[in-house]
Amino acid sequence: MGAYECTKCGACCVAPDIAALDKPLGLRCPHLGADNLCTAYENRPAVCRSYAADELCLKIEAPTLEERVAKYLAYFELTEEADQVRLRGRTSMKG
Ligand code: SF4
Ligand code: SF4
Repeated sequence: MGAYECTKCGACCVAPDIAALDKPLGLRCPHLGADNLCTAYENRPAVCRSYAADELCLKIEAPTLEERVAKYLAYFELTEEADQVRLRGRTSMKG
């Protein structure tokens, strides 16, 4: 038990695929601002609203967002899949 603190690192807005946003794996959500805060906070989908910091946030701790995203993808064994998304230049989950 215990509450996990969200450090607003932005990794959960980059690493996972988010169907409600048609956001492919490993790509930055278009609503994520340069400061790594959500620019659509008031209108963000339910999946974002219900997302809370957990132990994964500690497991992916790293100095840069890029490294945190890499650790997130590696944790779920999605590194290769995310590389394929990038190689194909996909901007949509449907592409
Ligand atoms: S990965 Fe965790 S710490 Fe980083 S923004 Fe998301 S919930 Fe917060
Ligand atoms: S809509 Fe906002 S909270 Fe949801 S993934 Fe995008 S930037 Fe993150």
